[in-house]
Amino acid sequence: MTVRTRADLASLPSYVPGRTIPGAIKLASNEVSAGPLPSVVKAIAEAATGINRYPDSGCTELTARLSERLGVPADHLALGCGSVTLCQQLVQATCTENDEVLFAWRSFEAYPIVTHVAGARQIRVPLNEGHVHDLDAMAAAITPNTRMVFVCNPNNPTGTALRTDEIEAFIAKVPRDVLVVLDEAYKEFVDDAHIPDGVELAKQHWAAGHNNVAVLRTFSKAYGLAGLRIGYAVAPPVVADVLRKVYVPFSVNSLAQVAAMASLDAEEELMVRCRAIVAERTRVRGELLAMGYDVPETQANFVWLPLGERTTAFNEHCLAHKVVVRAFVGEGTRVTIGEPEENNAFLAAARAFTS
Ligand SMILES: *Cc1c(COP(=O)(O)O)cnc(C)c1O
Repeated sequence: MTVRTRADLASLPSYVPGRTIPGAIKLASNEVSAGPLPSVVKAIAEAATGINRYPDSGCTELTARLSERLGVPADHLALGCGSVTLCQQLVQATCTENDEVLFAWRSFEAYPIVTHVAGARQIRVPLNEGHVHDLDAMAAAITPNTRMVFVCNPNNPTGTALRTDEIEAFIAKVPRDVLVVLDEAYKEFVDDAHIPDGVELAKQHWAAGHNNVAVLRTFSKAYGLAGLRIGYAVAPPVVADVLRKVYVPFSVNSLAQVAAMASLDAEEELMVRCRAIVAERTRVRGELLAMGYDVPETQANFVWLPLGERTTAFNEHCLAHKVVVRAFVGEGTRVTIGEPEENNAFLAAARAFTS
């Protein structure tokens, strides 16, 4: 006899992390290529002497820092082990069996997984022909069972972003008891003034008495702390409260908390890096367009090449050139913007791709 586990998990696809191949350039996981700032490494090293103690489960000091910085009361914040964990907590906190979570597809790979694991049902609404969220179709897909909608802005893996007017028109159609979650993992790379700051947008809704808008942010991308696992939700107190209820005690570790605070101290320096990545993004996309590739306009630290059936061949071709990209078989390839020489290696591979 073997142990009885949940039969439904057999059909669940596993999360596919970007591959790491020794000696190859990794442009597969939307990480920032530059290593951690010396000031952040120093803060982590100092905090290492205290790791015999449990972390502050409430992340009190970091919460106070974020509260001040974002201009929201502390009861509007919930920390998590990366925003992917907060995605899972949000589903756990809003859904039981037969409840529905709505999201665009293709979008962040973790949405289907966390929804399924929590026992909820997923409703996927295809992106439109421009690889952008089809918000009209998403609004039309809301049912009495819908509890939550993920809106990934900019969208992973396409990089496409929604404007303030589009998001506002969508939220106006969503029943007030359905939570709209703006996942802003790539917010710091946005340079188009028409794309909203989700926290500012959410504040206006809260002021109007609408408690169904929340925002996810992470320290993994622009802040360069992917390996430490820390992110946060900015949400109305009713939502932040239930997020804390489903939080696994002590899961955000002490080094992550200290590193996040040191990163907030070094924000200017980190944003200079982001602006350099944005400049590279413009250059890389421009060169790809000139080579004849279709590349949707991107507001994130990656580009999307909707290669369809050519995706696998392109992926293998890049690997042969020692560049690891992220292939979504049959759909397209996502390529992270790295340092200029890394991007040049990728561009050289893309230029040499003929099939
Ligand atoms: C990378 C990413 C996240 C979060 O990553 P964490 O490392 O878990 O904070 C969340 N949402 C999207 C869309 C992402 O691409």
